[in-house]
Amino acid sequence: MGRKVLLEHDHIEGINTYEVYRRMGGYRSVEKAIKTMSPDEVVEEVKKSGLRGRGGAGFPTGMKWSFLAKPAGVARYLVCNADESEPGTFKDRYLMEKNPHILVEGMITASFALGANTSYIYIRGEYFYLVKILERAIAEAYAAGFLGKNILGSGYDLDLYVHPGAGAYICGEETALLESLEGKRGNPRMKPPFPAIAGLYACPTVVNNVETIAAVVPIVNLGGEEYAKIGIGRSTGTKLISAGGNIKKPGVYEIEMGISVEDFIYSDEYCGGIENDLELKACVPGGSSVPILPKDLLLKTAAGETRLMSYESLSDGGFATGSMLGSGGFFVYDQRACIVRSTWNFSRFYHHESCGQCSPCREGTGWMEKILHRIENGHGKMHDIDLLVDVASKIEGNTICPLGDAAAWPVAAAIRHFREEFEYHIKYPEKVKDPKHFHKTPFRGLKNVYA
Ligand code: SF4
Repeated sequence: MGRKVLLEHDHIEGINTYEVYRRMGGYRSVEKAIKTMSPDEVVEEVKKSGLRGRGGAGFPTGMKWSFLAKPAGVARYLVCNADESEPGTFKDRYLMEKNPHILVEGMITASFALGANTSYIYIRGEYFYLVKILERAIAEAYAAGFLGKNILGSGYDLDLYVHPGAGAYICGEETALLESLEGKRGNPRMKPPFPAIAGLYACPTVVNNVETIAAVVPIVNLGGEEYAKIGIGRSTGTKLISAGGNIKKPGVYEIEMGISVEDFIYSDEYCGGIENDLELKACVPGGSSVPILPKDLLLKTAAGETRLMSYESLSDGGFATGSMLGSGGFFVYDQRACIVRSTWNFSRFYHHESCGQCSPCREGTGWMEKILHRIENGHGKMHDIDLLVDVASKIEGNTICPLGDAAAWPVAAAIRHFREEFEYHIKYPEKVKDPKHFHKTPFRGLKNVYA
């Protein structure tokens, strides 16, 4: 069994209550930090731990914290990004539902480290049922003296609020989130200035993902160096992975960074293998915005190394032959899956969620969706494939926020690795018009099956 530091107690009855959580050692990180450490020492431990942001970008958390401006007399904020909306990613939801106190505890310890006296958990609108769960945990933490005025007699004050969004994917982008939290339309801001300088209400602000903030608890409890011993290389610690698609055991798993992708898919401890013992075809390893990998590049890198569940290994080879760990939304395709249909589905999502501020994203996502729709429905032309590649390349790197890249990468990668499947749709429109064709398209390496 791999080591667990976030979901260690998720099987314990009542762990979502203060009483049981506390009995299992909960809120020790707050006591340790507030009673025995200075805020800078907590930041130092997070730096030593090597923790990297678990929302998708993988930026070192301690470094992000150290960028926070500290002008005298100006409020600082910590905002938890719980706007988990990436298709295929549901690990933060699981963590908040099963163990809300670990997030509340992480918020208190991290707020202390950053010198924030007011902090927010900005939660996805569709997770409304979690608002009550979190608010109950927060009320229990107030009652126990871990929130409010003069926490543990230290003179440190903190108020923590839960703020639901209205169901826009773009509010997962940190500056759009801050706009929304201020009560405005959730449009991403031009950067710089970055939130560390001018964030919420133009004050210095740190925005961190749910899992990142929860990881502060074991880091402070264990010490940064001890936490850094878990994992591999610069991918320290554990990672929550939400696994779905054609596997035997979909769910949320906490893995030690560095296990092999093959073990993750086939071992009984995790995904349990491919549904109905069919053939593995491909996988999107880090949420819908990262490049898809065909089986051969998923299990081994282009250099023939075993592919590992880590930031470095999954991105080995760049986008030509690699992908990204991303948000940990890991979905698996078996031999029946239609890559064109899946790519169109993602495209439709990004077109719908584009905020419309910049032309390449607003127009380009619409074009990609339209072209993919006609290919998928048997009306495509051969030149459409290169047109898609061209549109994706015009979006990438030319937008205000990363949604443009997120829309372009899956399309470019699907064509890079499964071009013959797009061609098949165009060559044999009568076959793809069959309503059951989702399970009948040819798949990589076994083209003769449908010849
Ligand atoms: Fe809006 Fe898309 Fe531009 Fe982001 S990339 S600011 S979502 S239009």
